[in-house]
Amino acid sequence: MQTRRIFRRPKLYGMMLSLLAGLIYLPAARAQTSEEAGRLYVSGQLDQLIAQGEASLRKNDQQPILHMFVGRAYADQNRYPEAIPHLEKSRQVPAGSDGVKVWSLGYLGTSYYFTDQPAKAQAALEECVALNNTQNATKYAQRRLQGYQLLPFYAGWRVVETAHLRLHFQSPEQVPDLARYAAEREQAYQAISQKFPASLSKKIDFYVWNNKADAKPVLQRELGFAVPEAMLVNARQNQTRGHELAHVLVQHSLQPTQRTKLINEGIAVYLDQTGANRLQRARQLAQGRADVWRLWEHPEAADEGQLYAVGGALLEYLAAHATPEQLRALLKDQRAEANRAALEPLVAAFEQELAKPE
Ligand SMILES: [Zn+2]
Repeated sequence: MQTRRIFRRPKLYGMMLSLLAGLIYLPAARAQTSEEAGRLYVSGQLDQLIAQGEASLRKNDQQPILHMFVGRAYADQNRYPEAIPHLEKSRQVPAGSDGVKVWSLGYLGTSYYFTDQPAKAQAALEECVALNNTQNATKYAQRRLQGYQLLPFYAGWRVVETAHLRLHFQSPEQVPDLARYAAEREQAYQAISQKFPASLSKKIDFYVWNNKADAKPVLQRELGFAVPEAMLVNARQNQTRGHELAHVLVQHSLQPTQRTKLINEGIAVYLDQTGANRLQRARQLAQGRADVWRLWEHPEAADEGQLYAVGGALLEYLAAHATPEQLRALLKDQRAEANRAALEPLVAAFEQELAKPE
């Protein structure tokens, strides 16, 4: 399973009003620069804001509001290493009605998270919440503490790191061989990333829960699932080693613009790194017959087990029989109508395979 985008950009109007109120006390020239930066930020002209802001800061570094806007502009462009020095400067101001300190802390938290510095991310976001300075900034930080799983709840979990993963174990004593468990998942990461290379800005945080019942009240949903945007996975202890990692890597390798359940889950089942006979399993669950296009277009009407099994077998089949370009195109735009012309004959051949006796 996998989630959609979890965070929206915060509403800016309230923040802008309080910022502009704060500007009254600034000398005219600086106020103008900061006001212009605010205008550019709100209208989404981030490149221009960065260029003008950096030029102004080279002449005068003592402009916290400008540092904050430039830092946020970098962060909004996912240029987190460049955002951090600016936000570290703007966070130094005392908390006031302009919201500069708390917004700097909020964006600093995000920037530290995506540069693989979770402790600093947590500290910045917690400070933002503790100041309780503006409602929107507090909400921004609370959502990220929850969504990035930077909560005291996980503080006691055992952490094991590999080259690309940071595994968090709820009950390490229940896993017979932690080092081996971690190494197997690292191998899965490497095998999948050979097919779908991606450069991630942080290790994947991989939470290993004892069971669904423990996770549900904390995560508000059923295990297991990946949050590709946050490079984060929540899994049951006995889940396949590759499925959720595949969701994260495919997302960062191809940046799909349109996802559909059959294809999105199918590629994860295909890459789950088990030795399963996927075609056989699909034959069993589909009882020899499956209308692929119907499953594709109406996943909500399908039995979930059947959908996953047929999807996995279909993607395995297409990986073997479609061209690499067709497979990439399919994964980038996963809608049935976008792929029908290219894949109709292959899908028909797959349905025939599926109809053969076991
Ligand atoms: Zn999945």
